[in-house]
Amino acid sequence: MNYKGLLEGLVHLIYPSLCIACQENDPFSDQRLCLPCLQELPFVYNSADSMAALEGKDFFPPGIRYFRSLFYYTKESLVAEMIHRLKYNGQYRIGHYLGHLLSEKMQSEQSWSDYQIVPVPLHAKKRKSRGFNQAEEIAKGLQKGFTIPVRNNLLIRSRNESSQTAKDKWERSRILKESITINHTGQIPKRVLLVDDVITTGSTIAACANLLFEAGTKNLSVASLAVSV
Ligand SMILES: [Zn+2]
Repeated sequence: MNYKGLLEGLVHLIYPSLCIACQENDPFSDQRLCLPCLQELPFVYNSADSMAALEGKDFFPPGIRYFRSLFYYTKESLVAEMIHRLKYNGQYRIGHYLGHLLSEKMQSEQSWSDYQIVPVPLHAKKRKSRGFNQAEEIAKGLQKGFTIPVRNNLLIRSRNESSQTAKDKWERSRILKESITINHTGQIPKRVLLVDDVITTGSTIAACANLLFEAGTKNLSVASLAVSV
């Protein structure tokens, strides 16, 4: 057992795992969510409803054929808290579980056998301080469901400057676009499933989508744990 695994084992001993959303009830069966949360969390019904949520975004990326989100996202909700714990409290396994849950929903909607999973990149410095990239952890859960390759280093976040000082969302989008590049050393997959944790304005996936299309991707689908409404 490595250090990470040992630490996780100890944490589990001290804090027996409760539902990852409400953190009050025992999880249902072999799930990591309790039954009330499985029934009451704002799950998105299908890909058509996911697409409808994406179409209202400022940066709806053209050419996306399919989009699937597991949850609707609102501030200070259980979904927001759960994703916060995934990103900032080191609970990367939440990403595996929710990614796998998402794969179960997506499996009935279309075939994924010819696809490669591409996680939205995190800047190396941020990845190092966090210990992981949450999109890669979600991708692991999806991969378990689909058994298709994951291309962790196809997209690269080359600059880490804060976009918070930008004048407006359009300038933020421009800065973001310049900070993501594509790694041309490997083969560019024709069919890509792009993965992110939360989609808010759509500018990150739009920047990634444009790069992938320019590089030769023909068919782009997107999956996220949550989409803001
Ligand atoms: Zn719960």
